[in-house]
Amino acid sequence: MSTFQAPKGTYDLLPPNSATYLAVREAISAPLKNSGYGYIETPGFENVELFARGVGGSTDIVTKEMYAFETKGGDQLALRPEGTASVLRAALEANLHKGGNLPVKLWYSGSYYRYERPQKGRYRHFSQVGAEAIGAEDPALDAELIILADQAYRALGLRDFRILLNSLGDKECRPVYRTALQDFLRGLDLDEDTRRRIDINPLRVLDDKREYVQERLVGAPMLRDYLCEACKAYHEQVRELLTAAGVAFEDDVKLVRGLDYYTRTTFEFVHDGLGSQSAVGGGGRYDGLSEMIGGPALPSVGWALGVDRTVLALEAEGVTLDIPAATAVYAVPLGDEARRVLFGAVTELRRAGIATDFAFGGKGLKNAMKSANRSGARLALVAGERDLAEGVVQLKDLRSGEQTPVALDAVVEEIRRALG
Ligand code: AMP
Repeated sequence: MSTFQAPKGTYDLLPPNSATYLAVREAISAPLKNSGYGYIETPGFENVELFARGVGGSTDIVTKEMYAFETKGGDQLALRPEGTASVLRAALEANLHKGGNLPVKLWYSGSYYRYERPQKGRYRHFSQVGAEAIGAEDPALDAELIILADQAYRALGLRDFRILLNSLGDKECRPVYRTALQDFLRGLDLDEDTRRRIDINPLRVLDDKREYVQERLVGAPMLRDYLCEACKAYHEQVRELLTAAGVAFEDDVKLVRGLDYYTRTTFEFVHDGLGSQSAVGGGGRYDGLSEMIGGPALPSVGWALGVDRTVLALEAEGVTLDIPAATAVYAVPLGDEARRVLFGAVTELRRAGIATDFAFGGKGLKNAMKSANRSGARLALVAGERDLAEGVVQLKDLRSGEQTPVALDAVVEEIRRALG
């Protein structure tokens, strides 16, 4: 029989490396939990229309990368390609915005799916931790989110990342700019695909990474020069708050991002050790999204950080997280009576909160001690018939090799002391 493999563009998280992923999720969510964000979990799939309207019918995410399907019952669904539309949908559905306590601040962690061309750092199934602050227009809220992401990356020990910042304007000034940009782009010699993009999503052309496109873009009108006074003042406040918080950023007037819903503040976290897939996270303000999916006007801001790429960034910087060994104590019984007694001691230790494992499967002493060492445990608890007859078990320090007998009824206490 042939064996199965993980689908193309996916990979499995396996121990011991999987512990790093858990630690990254924890490190990213910790500053959010500490800042008034509550945990939200939404389904892995949604009505396809939510993403078509929310993310934008002209984006690559919706037109090329979405896992859309029809169920046996005829529902048109899609695996979620991103988190914001779902979170806003859930908040609206539950009327969280009507509790008289805006902004509604939520964080999430989960799997996302995009049918992309796989390469290092780009997968078809990936993992994000995200945050959304719904229902307030306040530059301090935009600044808060950027500061919290910066705090998360720094807590992980990352240093070689940069924050790119831009303002995309609002519904007053962006349409004027859009028209000016379209006029400029239509005068350029560009390929068919790109020309089509000029009609549906001209700002994305600025983001095109191809050199021949970038060469032609010299002299293009810049959104910065079209921002209305309100947008300019708003952006200036975000910048000042970041500076006051000691968070360095770079103004990137070409930063557009791949989703249609952004207004005003947009930002991206890029890491310089990752090659072409350098964005480790990104986000921005989406003041119009609620109305686009049938809700009331709810100016909001959020971000999503990629867990997979954050792990790659840690590797690129040579940072290893300080992850405590999963097992502190490893029990090795010699003989049937010892198995029974030591298994009891293991249960007791675990109930006392001490991470403990056991040599299952009737291994011989040599093999069992090998497993003990591999487990990363500091202590082994070894007992044979003679020990039991004396009412003791042997406590072996796996680093020094030193072994001391301990009374069976004092095991938890002694181990607690030995572990410090
Ligand atoms: P986006 O919603 O595209 O701004 O994505 C936010 C973050 O999610 C990115 O900065 C990446 O870190 C991560 N991400 C997005 N797409 C992928 C993918 N296909 N594979 C791995 N990570 C991804």
